[in-house]
Amino acid sequence: MSSDRAINNLADQPVTNLKGVGDKFAQVLAKLHIHSLQDLLFHLPLRYQDRTRVVPVAGLTAGMDAVIEGEVTAADVVFGRRRSLVVKLQDMSGSITLRFFHFSAAQKNRFARGVRLRCFGEARRGAAGLELYHPETEIVGSENATTEETLTPVYPLTEGVSQGRMRGLMQQAVELLRSGAVTELLPANLLPKPLRYPLSDALVYLHSPPAGTQLEKLAAGTHPAQQRLALEELLAHHLSLLELRRNSARVAAPPLPKNKSLERDFLSRLPFSLTGAQQRVCEEIAEDLAQDLPMMRLLQGDVGAGKTLVAAMAALKGIGAGAQVVVMAPTEILAEQHRINFCNWLEPLGVQVAQLTGSLKAAERREQLGKIASGEAQLVVGTHALFQEGVVFHNLVLVIIDEQHRFGVRQRLELREKGAASGATGRLQPHQLIMTATPIPRTLAMSAFADLDCSIIDELPPGRQPINTVAISNDRRDQVMERVHSAIAEGRQAYWVCTLIEESESLQAQAAESTAEELVEMLDGARVALVHGRLKPEQKEQVMGAFKAGEVDLLVATTVIEVGVDVPNASLMIIENPERLGLAQLHQLRGRVGRGSIASHCVLLYGTPLSQNGRARLQALRQHSDGFAIAEEDLRLRGPGEILGTRQTGEIQHRIADLQRDAELLPQVQKIAISPHLTEGIRQQLIKRWLQNKPRFAEA
Ligand code: ADP
Ligand code: MG
Repeated sequence: MSSDRAINNLADQPVTNLKGVGDKFAQVLAKLHIHSLQDLLFHLPLRYQDRTRVVPVAGLTAGMDAVIEGEVTAADVVFGRRRSLVVKLQDMSGSITLRFFHFSAAQKNRFARGVRLRCFGEARRGAAGLELYHPETEIVGSENATTEETLTPVYPLTEGVSQGRMRGLMQQAVELLRSGAVTELLPANLLPKPLRYPLSDALVYLHSPPAGTQLEKLAAGTHPAQQRLALEELLAHHLSLLELRRNSARVAAPPLPKNKSLERDFLSRLPFSLTGAQQRVCEEIAEDLAQDLPMMRLLQGDVGAGKTLVAAMAALKGIGAGAQVVVMAPTEILAEQHRINFCNWLEPLGVQVAQLTGSLKAAERREQLGKIASGEAQLVVGTHALFQEGVVFHNLVLVIIDEQHRFGVRQRLELREKGAASGATGRLQPHQLIMTATPIPRTLAMSAFADLDCSIIDELPPGRQPINTVAISNDRRDQVMERVHSAIAEGRQAYWVCTLIEESESLQAQAAESTAEELVEMLDGARVALVHGRLKPEQKEQVMGAFKAGEVDLLVATTVIEVGVDVPNASLMIIENPERLGLAQLHQLRGRVGRGSIASHCVLLYGTPLSQNGRARLQALRQHSDGFAIAEEDLRLRGPGEILGTRQTGEIQHRIADLQRDAELLPQVQKIAISPHLTEGIRQQLIKRWLQNKPRFAEA
């Protein structure tokens, strides 16, 4: 291939320009989203091996990848649980065992006594101290053989491409880099001083770090070369979200002005007045809704902050304009609770409410669908069933989504599309309000939700009692039962929450059932009821209703009660095995108590032994009552994937950046993103470089 510097944009050169890459192999690389030479160079190593120096045997530690060299002192086939070839290797500092489970006679013969062997492999703890399993081996002469000059990168691979082949390709590509063939997109003056590291230097460095490089620093991702790339990557992500926001500003939405008399009527019937925070947030939403651009707003507010009321105020704007509004909840229980709330609040104002959940019987579903399609229903409450085929809305102008804490960019895009598709108002798109009780740390929110506007209810309604949280080991279960007993004797109600790691609802239900049995036995005379995900919605509703009405003393539940349920007389919650849940989820659960005027308690009944991290998390929960502080702790202890709920979906996949580790780069990223020195052309190229070949925004 040509190394002509005139052709210096590697982004335009297909991988087939490299020696030994044909169309067929190019298809294999495409699976790794590698199409151009630039893509190849941005395919960064996962980690490195140090083959630059020979490590004395005595200097090995478990888990370390290393080159060792020594003399074979013995080689025997051992018949243990598995037949293996055991070779003893000795150097000046000591001796070590090499173990092979698969070997040929020829191989065994190579390892004759006195042969000088150089090996590379990972030291692991074996039966006889440290061992190397199946190391790479090479017979060497008496004088020192040469070692590698650079650290050896280990790349992410896919079927059809070996580590060796990938390294070979990279070497070719890195050669081109050395002649400066990658476009520097960021003007140096935009970069913070310590990161003014030319892009091509950073890439050369990361593909072939020189001998002597501290592996620890590279492994930690804090080397300036890595930080330089991380900054650029974070910037590219940020820019793409900003672009998403700009694109959505291109479609029109129906402006929804305030309907003052309807709102006054509504507020005058409430037994309380809005908190200052609720008022402020309602104003922010009102301002958005009055525009002819679709609102895309995230409403954050701690458990019990009163988001439902804010949602109702927003809904009134749509209803007041003679159109339809949808409220979507993540579970049937919550949808039902919303339906009851909205009916209580809005029916006196003459508003018709329809509901749509997965559990409706066919006839009922048909009836509700009819009310929705005709526009007779002004408000529709439901679960995901709302967005299934066959649901036709009538002049839908606002979509409210509750408790959406698993909320990645992809889902957001889907919702935008659904919104667009379901709007019966020609090319107009409905406004969207998304509510979450899982606060998102500010730095993360600014970066991961750059395409959304954010409102925060940072004040609880007056009169809330702080929840006293204690952690008690399961060894003292009896004491906890005693406590439940006396609370019930005083006329209080309590929750007992069973958690299980298994996703299976039937296992969770079983565990809750047996706990309920145990509790009935221990708490003589107490009225115990059980609610779990396997119950039919009517059954759940009946149990919840009885608990709400005070006909049940103790509600044994799985985590289905996590969201939304509101029973002010319940002042005690026991959470079994809280160490299995995330902090945000625990905080949500705990928010079920402390809703009345009585002092409330939450007992974290943990299993032993508790890991250090588990201990730290429970401690954080005891210390903080503010969801935002807890979210910051969660971020610190578990990482951003957990918080944003994206770990499983692989939503935020950075090549090199790590939102948690690099959080301090985010303010810089935001600053650079609005710099006038960043031309439209550069923005597009940055997005293309880092995101183009990833599926996430391709369709956006
Ligand atoms: P969340 O934000 O967790 O969804 P809810 O909307 O369920 O909270 O509200 C929790 C409780 O607080 C409900 O019983 C609600 O009626 C009550 N509430 C909401 N706003 C106020 C207020 N301004 N003053 C008093 N109580 C309020
Ligand atoms: Mg709620």
